[in-house]
Amino acid sequence: MTAGLVGCSPGSDSGLSARPAVHHGHCFNGHDLDIAGRTMSYDHSVYVPTSSCNLCQALGLPRSTWFEIDLRFVHETPPTDAELVLIARPPTARAGVGQVDLQLRSQRIGGLDLWLCGIDRRGVIGPVGVDASYRRRGFGTVLVAAALARGAGYRWSTTAISESASARAFCAAQYWPDGVHLSRPHYCSHMKFANGDEV
Ligand SMILES: [Zn+2]
Ligand SMILES: [Zn+2]
Repeated sequence: MTAGLVGCSPGSDSGLSARPAVHHGHCFNGHDLDIAGRTMSYDHSVYVPTSSCNLCQALGLPRSTWFEIDLRFVHETPPTDAELVLIARPPTARAGVGQVDLQLRSQRIGGLDLWLCGIDRRGVIGPVGVDASYRRRGFGTVLVAAALARGAGYRWSTTAISESASARAFCAAQYWPDGVHLSRPHYCSHMKFANGDEV
């Protein structure tokens, strides 16, 4: 099985999944990778490392192989040929809203809004959007992890999360830091000022 994008029809379960490039003890399907076995490789269609769960592959399960996405923004890494990367679109005003995007071959396939304040050590995550044909493959989780990685130890909150089952399922699958306030954004005074709100 290949994780390659070539020939991967949207909506199918043929490989195209992604996770943050951090140590994972378990695969997408919950197998302990020390027991199931893990194969690390490299995808030459997008120049990104991959991992596979050997047991998932033996069982023919979906999402057995995933891209290991570097959580650094592409301009922060040594020069790379990677064509599946995280891009920062900084805010136009300090502590204003910026974006974190995932780009596949220079095309945006997902993104989220992000407010950060280094003075108050606070971060707010806005709506997470992933193109329909790339959903349920870990890309949204990569975006959230990339956002959270910008503010280790910050107090985090999110804007209102939809009550839909799919939105709640996504939210429930994230690795939120302790003390996160979901659906209750806590903007600091700098963010409010940048947002044009009364401070
Ligand atoms: Zn597995
Ligand atoms: Zn602030």
